Order: sequence, then C-alpha cells, then structure tokens
Amino acid sequence: MDLQFDLQHIWHPYTSAVNPLPCYPVSSAEGVYINLESGQRLIDGMSSWWCVVHGYNNPVINEAMQRQMHKMSHVMFGGLTHEPAIELSRRLISITPGQHWVFFSDSGSVAVEVALKMAIQYQHSVGHPERCQIATVRSGYHGDTWHAMSVCDPVTGMHSLFKQQLPIQHFVPAPQVRFHDEWDEADLEPMRQLITQHGKSLAAVIVEPIVQGAGGMRFYHPCYLKGLAQLCKDNGLLLIADEIATGFGRSGRLFACNYADVTPDIMCVGKALTAGYMSFAATLCSQEVAEAISRGDAKCFMHGPTFMANPLACAIANASIDLLLSPDYVGGLGWQRNVERIERILNSELAPLASSPVVSDVRVLGAIGVVETKEPVNVGDIQKVFVENGVWIRPFGRNVYVMPQYVITDEQLVLLCNGLKAGIRYLESKG
Ligand code: PMP
Repeated sequence: MDLQFDLQHIWHPYTSAVNPLPCYPVSSAEGVYINLESGQRLIDGMSSWWCVVHGYNNPVINEAMQRQMHKMSHVMFGGLTHEPAIELSRRLISITPGQHWVFFSDSGSVAVEVALKMAIQYQHSVGHPERCQIATVRSGYHGDTWHAMSVCDPVTGMHSLFKQQLPIQHFVPAPQVRFHDEWDEADLEPMRQLITQHGKSLAAVIVEPIVQGAGGMRFYHPCYLKGLAQLCKDNGLLLIADEIATGFGRSGRLFACNYADVTPDIMCVGKALTAGYMSFAATLCSQEVAEAISRGDAKCFMHGPTFMANPLACAIANASIDLLLSPDYVGGLGWQRNVERIERILNSELAPLASSPVVSDVRVLGAIGVVETKEPVNVGDIQKVFVENGVWIRPFGRNVYVMPQYVITDEQLVLLCNGLKAGIRYLESKG
C-alpha cells in the first residue's frame, strides 16, 4: 500500500495536510476483527463510528447486497420506486415511535439538514414563517454540513472557525442530571426560559436523545427528554430526535426515545441503519408534519438527492434490521439481551478505572463505555499503545470510549477492555 501517497494527497477526518497523524493500513475486516497489512489483528472497539453492529463481512448482509446488485444497484427515485425502499420504509415505520413518512438521503449530516428544512417548511405551512430558528442543548453533535454544524456545540463541535457565517441558533446548557441519577426538574429550567423568551421565533428543538455522542459522550436523564417533548408540544415547536448514533439498540433501547416514551415529530436515523456497509440515512416524520408541509405554499417537500433510496443501501438495511430483530440473534439472545450482556461486562471491566489518578469519570449505557480522562489525550500516542495491545480504540478530547459490535463475544470484550486499560496505564505512567 502506498502510504506516502496517502500522506501526501488524501484528507482523513479532521486531520492536517502538512502534519497528519499516521494511519494504519487495513487489508480486510472480518467479524469483530480489523486486519492490518502488518498481519496484526485488532479487536474493533469503535464499530467504525457506531455503524458495524453485526460484524464486518457479515455473510447474511453480503448475500442480501449481492442479490440486490444483480437486480439493480441504483435507479433514480424521482418518478420511480422499488421494493427495497418500500420494504425498508415499512420496517422503519413499524419500529420507530410515531413516525409515518420516510425521507431517504445519503448520510447522517444530510438527514439532519433535511430534518431542519422539514421543521422550517412545516412552520411556514402552518402560518408561522417567523418561526425559523432552531434551539438545542450544549455538548451536542449533529454533523459537519452547514446547518448541521450550526446546531453542534459551539466549542466541542469543532466548528468555531465558521461561527461568523453560520445561522444563529439558540443554545442552552447541556442537561446536567445523569441517566442513573435522581431527576431534578430544575434541569429543564434553562430550556423553559429560552422557550418563554424566544419561542415565537423557534421552529424546532433538535437533540440527540439520552446519549450525547461526539459532543461529549454524555448520558442524560430520560425525564429531560420527556419534559422537553412536553415543552415543545405546549409551545408549538417541533421536536427533532437525532437518533443517528443511538438508533438500532445502541443505548439499550431500540431507539433512545423509547427510554422516555417520547414520540418526536421528526427523527433522523443513519449509521447502523446499513450496518456499516454504505453511507445512508433517513429522516422520518409524523403524519401531521408531512401533511402540513404538503399543503403549504410549495405543495411539496423541497429536497431530492441523486442517490435517494439507493436500492443497494435499502436492501442492506432491510437485511440488517431483520438480523437485529431476529429472536435467534447472537446465541439466541436477541439484540436487547446482547446489548445488556455487553453493558454488564463493560460495567464490571471499566468501573475499577474510576480510581485511576488520570481518570475523572467512568460511565456505561447500553453498548457504550466511556472512560473520561482528566486531561485531553494525545490520540497518536495512545493509539500506538492500543494497537500494540491488539485493539482498535480512537479517543477524542478527554473521552476514551468503546462501542463494540453486538456480536462481540464475552472473551473478546474482556480483551478489548484489557486493551483500553493498557492505554490508561500508559497515561498513568506519563504522569
Ligand atoms: N448526528 C449524530 C448524532 C452523529 O453522531 C453523526 C455522526 N457522528 C451525525 C449526525 C452525522 O452523520 P454523518 O457523519 O453520517 O454525516
């Protein structure tokens, strides 16, 4: 592999053209293993950023993809339709809370753009064109495209450089009551005040339900989400749930909104939707939102990407959802008991790290384990330690975290946690 060419010509996520971090060349991936060109095998702790829930090179999904490929890989969705899209929409509508319409797009960020446009078009259609701003909480992350950036945390969202050009949105402090702590109504006060002051100019509130991912890996209380949904309802605002990271079981519920029995008006899914096979996403909405948009001035929803409802991606998503919901899933446990199994092991393996002098917090929810360090970690340095210890973990800031594939065995998960511990020992040794 020509790594020199890679270094000199290819951007990687959030990296530099003049001083890039080294990349590890991968030759293949199978199950929970990423195989490096060096011959080393790493247990994947990242699920390739929340996506690969059923393992790499999964025979069931490979088969579904090949079957579809021989029928058609793509046709335009304007004026045409196909079985994979209809089947996927049927599945998504039946498993998501209160969603009745599906808009397919190419990535999570685009799904968020679509959601924001839907909210603004809805308000316009119901006679409130002045309601065109969006509110959110700090420590959120919703993607890297323009309006998605505008609702990311202004500090941890890594987008401060563009601040002058981004639309002004409204931020309140992140929810403070943690998932497992006792609920305190005061947590919602900043949002209540914001809505009292600016409600008339707001179209929607967007949040990642329960789990704030790339903005800080925080788990907040379901009562916050429940209270927020009520506040939105009482004040004519739409609630947009960005389930791109949390969807399909990651938090311990099929969708994190299920923890609070909340029915969002608009919902974004992506990432695990296609089990890490293809970039794909969907924005779902309620019947009311879809109808109102369609009765408005434009008489239609104003978006239509080239690769909308790509049949290959839909076929993969159908196979992935069927696999996930199968009662035979991984040892006959089903997805939920597998996620509980992972949660139990992450809890017992990671909890002792709380006493490390370099660690400020350890938290686990569903198949997500986070070890927060007191100081930001040097990614390049600690990554070497992880790779030497046979695991793939990529921290950011002060978060060293794992979100393993649901198919990981107990033994592989313990090895993954041992690798993480080796990284923490390395930080301790540096003082
Ligand atoms: N929303 C959330 C909650 C995410 O975690 C991400 C990706 N990290 C996105 C949106 C953007 O998705 P994509 O990278 O597919 O554009």
